[in-house]
Amino acid sequence: MFKKVLIANRGEIALRIHRACKEMGIQTVAVHSTADSDAMHVRMADESVCIGPPPGGQSYLSIPNIISACEITGADAVHPGYGFLSENANFSQIVHDHGITFIGPSAEHINVMGDKIAAKDTMKRLGVPCVPGSDGGVDTVEDARRIAADMGYPVIIKAASGGGGRGMKVATSADNIDVAFQSARSEAKAAFGDDVVYMEKYLQLPRHIEIQVFGDGKGNAVHLGERDCSLQRRHQKVFEEAPSPVITAEQRARIGKTCADAVAAIDYIGAGTIEFLYENGEFYFIEMNTRLQVEHPVTEAVYNVDLVQEQIRVAAGLPMSFTQDELKPLGHAIECRINAEKLPAFRPSPGTIKTFHAPGGLGVRMDSAIYAGYRIPPYYDSLIGKLIVHGRNRDEALARLHRALSEFVVEGIDTTLPLFDHLLAARDVQTGDYDIHWLEKWLEAEFDT
Ligand code: ADP
Repeated sequence: MFKKVLIANRGEIALRIHRACKEMGIQTVAVHSTADSDAMHVRMADESVCIGPPPGGQSYLSIPNIISACEITGADAVHPGYGFLSENANFSQIVHDHGITFIGPSAEHINVMGDKIAAKDTMKRLGVPCVPGSDGGVDTVEDARRIAADMGYPVIIKAASGGGGRGMKVATSADNIDVAFQSARSEAKAAFGDDVVYMEKYLQLPRHIEIQVFGDGKGNAVHLGERDCSLQRRHQKVFEEAPSPVITAEQRARIGKTCADAVAAIDYIGAGTIEFLYENGEFYFIEMNTRLQVEHPVTEAVYNVDLVQEQIRVAAGLPMSFTQDELKPLGHAIECRINAEKLPAFRPSPGTIKTFHAPGGLGVRMDSAIYAGYRIPPYYDSLIGKLIVHGRNRDEALARLHRALSEFVVEGIDTTLPLFDHLLAARDVQTGDYDIHWLEKWLEAEFDT
């Protein structure tokens, strides 16, 4: 087993990884920018190294600085968390070339899944159902028009290197395909430095359902059911739950096995998420994330596993600690992403936290790195915490969430906490009757945004 893991991240996920390491008797190294010297992940870790100035590009994304930090501290493995370098194949390769273990999949798998066109081709070949669309990239507006006419409108044009919901444009008819194609391309170029786009049938009222998979890199893989992440704003998840209110045990077993078999076939190692849109009883693959997801705790709650410890185990060459037969979901879990943002426009609200009280009690988990007196720097993602609740069933989880929210106190900055109280009062949320557009329509109606 590793002696010392360097955590190449910040915020709640850095702390989450630290916690997993400590329980396994592994020493931790935190890295931080000069803006994060007082951060909780730095305070908790056994050692810490400053890796640069505040901008992510000069610190958390600086491969040479992170490799130097490994060498200075003698870390024998690196956990990248999510975001930053977690899906950078080059980073995983360089870590490996320095004789350090990257806790995550191989550079080859990160590369394939990072290119959404290659990912779709691979999944199709492995028997995973995909959204109908173009075969590969679409180079010209003439091709886009022809493919859309064949497929039927509406269509969505997406960046091959896309992520974070950027570089996607919908065309509803031949009247707006030219504009959609050109703007998707230029947005893709600006955001990802790559203007390759592809096309898919635009599903109108789908849910976002993703399957958690886990492999040992030696041809064995399991699935840990689904998460329903349909409540989104600007294609970003806000509220996630497991299991999905609309998926039956038979559907879970079937799509779960398809996904586990697919990753087993490529000797995938570690945690992965296969994302689908789900409409009229059918699953349509959209992308695979080759890392731990923000919303992994809802899966941990219902399957009673520690996914980060499992990642560390298989990276160290140990077998998985569970078999598919042992993985049985129990109860229902919900996560709320709490951002330092001011409603209703969701404007970033950095500043100093004056008072902080986290909820607790049975079935309540708080993954956060904030504390009273902490100054939220303006340079990074606005996620400041995740509140996760677990109950014996969905109604109990909802009641527990309502109760936990009533205990939550954050003063000094604006947060998205008030959104969730409001959301829980919505009938469709209580019944689980929503699709990927529901939240935006509701926000418009409730907050006049
Ligand atoms: P990203 O990597 O940028 O998150 P995804 O391919 O995962 O991009 O898509 C993000 C979100 O965009 C989905 O959850 C869904 O809301 C929407 N979306 C993507 N593809 C389609 C599609 N073919 N039809 C309808 N909505 C889509």
